[in-house]
Amino acid sequence: MSTRTSTSGHITGPADLITALRQALGDAHVLTGADAAGYLTDQHGRLTGQALAVARPADTAQVAQLVRLCRAHRTPIVAQGGNTGLMGGATPDASGHAVLLSLARLNRVRAIDTDNDTLTVEAGAVLAHVQQAARDADRLFPLSLGSEGSCTIGGNLSTNAGGTQVLRYGNARELVLGLEVVTAEGEIWDGLRGLRKDNTGYALRDLYVGSEGTLGIITAATLRLHPLPRAQHTALLAFGCIRDAVAFLSQARAGFGASLTAFELMSDTALGLIARHVPEQPIPLALNAPWFALIELSDSEGEDHARQRFECVVGQAFEDGLVTDAAIAESLQQSRALWRLRDQALGEAQRRDGGNIKHDVSVPISRIPDFLAATAALLQARFGAVRPVAFGHLGDGNLHYNVSHAPDSTPAQLFAQEDAIHEVVHDSVHAHGGSISAEHGVGQTKRDLLPRYKSAVELQLMRRLKQAFDPLGLLNPGKVLQPLTDDLPQDLPQVSPAPAAAFQEGPTP
Ligand SMILES: Cc1cc2nc3c(=O)[nH]c(=O)nc-3n(C[C@H](O)[C@H](O)[C@H](O)COP(=O)(O)OP(=O)(O)OC[C@H]3O[C@@H](n4cnc5c(N)ncnc54)[C@H](O)[C@@H]3O)c2cc1C
Repeated sequence: MSTRTSTSGHITGPADLITALRQALGDAHVLTGADAAGYLTDQHGRLTGQALAVARPADTAQVAQLVRLCRAHRTPIVAQGGNTGLMGGATPDASGHAVLLSLARLNRVRAIDTDNDTLTVEAGAVLAHVQQAARDADRLFPLSLGSEGSCTIGGNLSTNAGGTQVLRYGNARELVLGLEVVTAEGEIWDGLRGLRKDNTGYALRDLYVGSEGTLGIITAATLRLHPLPRAQHTALLAFGCIRDAVAFLSQARAGFGASLTAFELMSDTALGLIARHVPEQPIPLALNAPWFALIELSDSEGEDHARQRFECVVGQAFEDGLVTDAAIAESLQQSRALWRLRDQALGEAQRRDGGNIKHDVSVPISRIPDFLAATAALLQARFGAVRPVAFGHLGDGNLHYNVSHAPDSTPAQLFAQEDAIHEVVHDSVHAHGGSISAEHGVGQTKRDLLPRYKSAVELQLMRRLKQAFDPLGLLNPGKVLQPLTDDLPQDLPQVSPAPAAAFQEGPTP
């Protein structure tokens, strides 16, 4: 733990920092020991860190004061929203040197401007509450994730979260117009502009979005709202092969246009896990097809219009032989049941199955069939009968390509090979022109993989940005990039993506 000489000549250390934080925030909002424990383990329960203290400021001014105090003590700061991130970004390291900054108390809606279609909200506001605030103003805030009951807007923006509506509305980055940020120096940048056009230099907002707490602390955001759809149709469709699912996606885009708001792919293995482990969850189709998709149409012209379009596009797909079976929700209740399948039951089934090795990856949509075939073959050749459990946001080229243990082996035997399995999957993603993190970010879990898949030029530019925004390296050190003091690894093997032409043909799984 670092100490420093105060202006009066006294050495100040961790105890002085805690005292100063208590004076600034109030005793009740600086937690230590057992009171802090609930903040120090990640979402999966796999990473546990230590912190000097957990600090819970009430507003932006207190966040700025906290950052200045930590800076004066050369103490790292780990920002945390809902702690639902999946890459360990909000979990401090084991040193116990950092202050964990919880944004949970910054949760106010500051303004709603329905003429400008914007909502200004503090970073600690829970996503579901923000969605509700928009609905109360007869508007839609479309970001939608399985964790929406706990994750926060600050965390969503810091990870550039995706979710189920990206196909129509974009990632978190596309849903924010302005930010308020506390810089590494403890200054407040008021960039809460509700502007759709603003070409006055570098896009600072876009640098902070997706930076996972390593460049600044987001304290508030001006979000972009959309009209509430007047009618929604949800259906579960079955496909005879993955190429048919990809072909239908193209047809659905052309037929529904901007009204196609979700296209969630699930393999028969994924749905089979639900049938086995979550029997209380109904699955309205027989599991005799290899691929299924939950699709949603959001129509601005009303129920009849939505139904006609739906029947026309899905009917044509039946005639073309792309869709082999369909269950169409006839009520809001049935629609919610279909979404529960995707949002809750799938995660629960994987947990009850003993867990699996997870990959959040993206590849160009056109290359998904070849990626799936090639990766399954590589895994089988090297690890035998492990089971890929693939599902994801097909419309965004984003797959959650999880790998489960073989029926005749145990989860422990699978996890013993975790690093090797990651490498096979990520190398295949890279070879198909993809990204090893589509929407969950890098955090600490994927940090050391970046040098293998990103060019030295790209990494160097990222390090220079970090140096410029946070020269002392105090903001979430060791996340996304190695700490600034470390030397760049010189001799890590690089793998090159193969040209697209090499992957045009191939068997479908
Ligand atoms: C069941 C489940 C489903 C999920 N589904 C999806 C999905 O479909 N799509 C998707 O993209 N993600 C998904 N996620 C992960 C997703 O990234 C997070 O749920 C969410 O975006 C993170 O928000 P949070 O408030 O929990 O952030 P945290 O977990 O608290 O933090 C995440 C990162 O952001 C930083 N951070 C947090 N707040 C701030 C701030 N105010 N300023 C600066 N940095 C900050 C942290 O330091 C950390 O690096 C899912 C997670 C779960 C558990």
